[in-house]
Amino acid sequence: MSEQVLKVAGLKVAYGGIKAVKGIDLEVNRGELIALIGANGAGKTTTLKAITGTLPDCKVEGAVTYMGKSLKGSQSFHLVEQKLAMVPEGRGVFTRMSIQENLMMGAYTRNDQAGIDADIAKWFDVFPRLKERAAQMAGTLSGGEQQMLAMARALMSHPQLLLLDEPSMGLSPIMVEKIFEVIRNVSKEGITILLVEQNAKLALQAAHRGYVMDSGLITMTGKASDMLDDPRVKAAYLGE
Ligand code: ATP
Repeated sequence: MSEQVLKVAGLKVAYGGIKAVKGIDLEVNRGELIALIGANGAGKTTTLKAITGTLPDCKVEGAVTYMGKSLKGSQSFHLVEQKLAMVPEGRGVFTRMSIQENLMMGAYTRNDQAGIDADIAKWFDVFPRLKERAAQMAGTLSGGEQQMLAMARALMSHPQLLLLDEPSMGLSPIMVEKIFEVIRNVSKEGITILLVEQNAKLALQAAHRGYVMDSGLITMTGKASDMLDDPRVKAAYLGE
């Protein structure tokens, strides 16, 4: 049996009277790229925040298990030490640090300087725009460039699980293509990924399995290739 990296069971989240997540189960196994798709407001971001323990003060029920251990009470700075990295919606780069410094921050749990330097060089090869601007403040980058930097920074920590929240949001089509190429390559390298996306087509084309979320519930799950052919998914999420 494949090794389970993440298990979410019976998760419910309510913001005051608003039930954003109404009891969902999902699993991510080692090496998988999982797409969590669904319309605006379906509860996808809330699910990721529940996994990382970064929700505001609100009611959370259910269990989140990561590498066999409960994540309850874990704080975000401990997550990187547990090799869990998240690229939040809106990217969250350190705007007043340089690109180079952002990448080094991503590796703060590591002490293999030669490996860190090699990884920075690798990401500069993948994203030459970042290399050209290495000394520039991250806040001066375009949205797409910040997305590249946020992904590279998250991967500098060598995560066991990478959580991506809407990486394509607000990006030009060329940038979306580039980001997805990187996601596919990172997945091929064996990193386990949970990808939240509104661009259902690209997400399912890249993923092994998918989950559809609607009004706080998982309404469908299966092999991503089957979901791409499913008439309900086509009608509701692929615009076909
Ligand atoms: P999007 O793609 O727009 O981010 P989503 O699927 O990620 O959508 P969530 O952001 O998780 O959805 O939102 C789910 C529901 O919870 C929505 O009805 C939203 O308005 C509500 N919600 C989210 N954050 C809060 C908050 N901090 N306080 C109150 N309600 C919230």
